[in-house]
Amino acid sequence: MRYATWCFDYVYFWWVYYSLDMFIGHDNWFKQEAFLPVHVATDSFGDILIALILVVSAFTVVFNGLIVREYILCFIFQDKVAKIKIEKLKHVLTDMTLAYWVTLTLIPGMTFFTLGTILEVLYWDEILLDWNSYYSVVVEYHLMLLLKDFISFRFIHAYVMHGFNKPPLNLWHQVHHTYKEETITPTAAVMHPVDLFFETFVGCFTLLFLKFCVLSAYHGHVVTPQVHFAAFLFMLTTDLNLHSGNPYSVIYFNPIFDWVFLSNLAHNLHHIPLAKRKEFGVMWDTPIPWRHANPWSGSRARDVRLYNEVFGTNFNFEDDPVSCLFKSTTKHKAEEGPESNQQKIQVGKEEVNAVKLEI
Ligand SMILES: [Zn+2]
Ligand SMILES: [Zn+2]
Repeated sequence: MRYATWCFDYVYFWWVYYSLDMFIGHDNWFKQEAFLPVHVATDSFGDILIALILVVSAFTVVFNGLIVREYILCFIFQDKVAKIKIEKLKHVLTDMTLAYWVTLTLIPGMTFFTLGTILEVLYWDEILLDWNSYYSVVVEYHLMLLLKDFISFRFIHAYVMHGFNKPPLNLWHQVHHTYKEETITPTAAVMHPVDLFFETFVGCFTLLFLKFCVLSAYHGHVVTPQVHFAAFLFMLTTDLNLHSGNPYSVIYFNPIFDWVFLSNLAHNLHHIPLAKRKEFGVMWDTPIPWRHANPWSGSRARDVRLYNEVFGTNFNFEDDPVSCLFKSTTKHKAEEGPESNQQKIQVGKEEVNAVKLEI
């Protein structure tokens, strides 16, 4: 299931972004008018309208595409995905609370996209198989993720949005936590606009600010910083896929990162009720579960065990990659097989014995 999900996701995302690139990035009417070069702000109302249509179309393709993908990947594997998530998927399109919040979230989202294009901070250049495209789309996307993780989640999310437990600070974020174990991709868009700013856009704003400082200092005059629109759409894809009912979902567009960090699993555990998280003694506050990279912390195996326990599933993520590299005796087994695997997990001082994972 893991590799089938990865194959589906990589082909699917390649198709979505290739289509967007053909539509926006190549020499056609849209590119001439709206993105190359972006002179929308000084031109006419018609150009602003084109920018609006373009960004709304791109956003709609990515957002709705992710919801369709969620249906496909959860229903294909419905005997393995958590039952509560399958049930939510069946009824999500008639969920009016969700429709209300998604609409409210879309307004600041669309405003940001359109303003970003008009102010020339968001741009789209043809995506090629070269270093420039790789840097502007993939590297800057990873930089935004890192900045968001360190600035927003490590501090604002952990200590403000969850820390005080006093209104209005926690109320903003509690909107996003309306959906708990039943969290799936569509419910990820349920966000208060204030929360949206601090937890979605902050990575992009911080990178733009850093680029402004560095480029202006380097050139000796004010330089408008820019971020590739596709890099921001990658961020959006990551944020939505973190909530998918399929824990093998591609999150980072990088198989090594997706192998090391079980981010979907950790974020789904972050959505369970606070009382349960307190009982487990873990909050899963940051989208990137850094401790998963440390094979000696045991947190990766602990999270897999807790996910299966909470959601009544039987997922196996095999050994962590560092163990795979250093433990030659580690026996790798296929994901779906008749045998069982006994693991001993060291979590801090506490030893959790014999987690039986069907693989
Ligand atoms: Zn939270
Ligand atoms: Zn979330």
